[in-house]
Amino acid sequence: MIATQPILENPQSKITGYIHSVETCGTVDGPGIRYVIFTQGCPLRCLYCHNPDCRHLNEGKKIKVDELILEIKKYRSYFQASGGGVTVTGGEPLMQPEFVEEICRRCQELGIHTVLDTSGYVNLNIAKPVLNYVNLVLLDIKSFDPGIYRHLTSVSLEPTLNLARYLSEIKKSVWIRFVLVPNLTDIKENIEGLAKFIATLNNVEKVEILPFHKMGEYKWKQLGYDYQLKDTPVPSSSQVEEVIQLFKNYGLPAE
Ligand code: SF4
Repeated sequence: MIATQPILENPQSKITGYIHSVETCGTVDGPGIRYVIFTQGCPLRCLYCHNPDCRHLNEGKKIKVDELILEIKKYRSYFQASGGGVTVTGGEPLMQPEFVEEICRRCQELGIHTVLDTSGYVNLNIAKPVLNYVNLVLLDIKSFDPGIYRHLTSVSLEPTLNLARYLSEIKKSVWIRFVLVPNLTDIKENIEGLAKFIATLNNVEKVEILPFHKMGEYKWKQLGYDYQLKDTPVPSSSQVEEVIQLFKNYGLPAE
């Protein structure tokens, strides 16, 4: 019998998005060896951002999900041997929800573990469909004090806390990330507030305390942006240890 229906092109192959770059063997953004996709575009303006060149969506490289998947497939043996997979970070990946959803969906279809690294500054209804295809969320809670959060990021804290609560409700695995910045996020009440909040969640596998660093400062200069933290010191290892201990005192798996 002759087919009368035209063979439809897979519409998924048309999904494109903007990326800044990829890292093929990342080891710090989730478990194992990871293919890390840095998406372009971010609504936050974090004072310590080490990727200020990721700010504007249309300054990235436009790429099809198909192209990324072809590349990702080459690294499957590394993922399998190390318990790794694919991480989508940025920028803010949830600025391109359909693109990220499709990357994660296609990866999971191939049995590849998916991680989403997000600031959480997003409408929940936009995030929900993406989360269906994410195995682990790295959620950056940059401060618990809303005033400090706004000063640091230029946006409000509430959407991030809402996402954290929702992820707990649906029992999605989460690693919380907190950047310790001397004279900014290191106020005891701020850290304790965050620890108490995280202790109310039931899905947190890890709390990562990341010491502030200035590795991105040169990019700010290149872009002609004013790097306000140039005189801020990096925290000492004992300061970091103290904060890790504070989280541990609340029964949290901090490191
Ligand atoms: S959320 Fe990340 S990419 Fe966006 S400004 Fe902050 S540190 Fe930079």
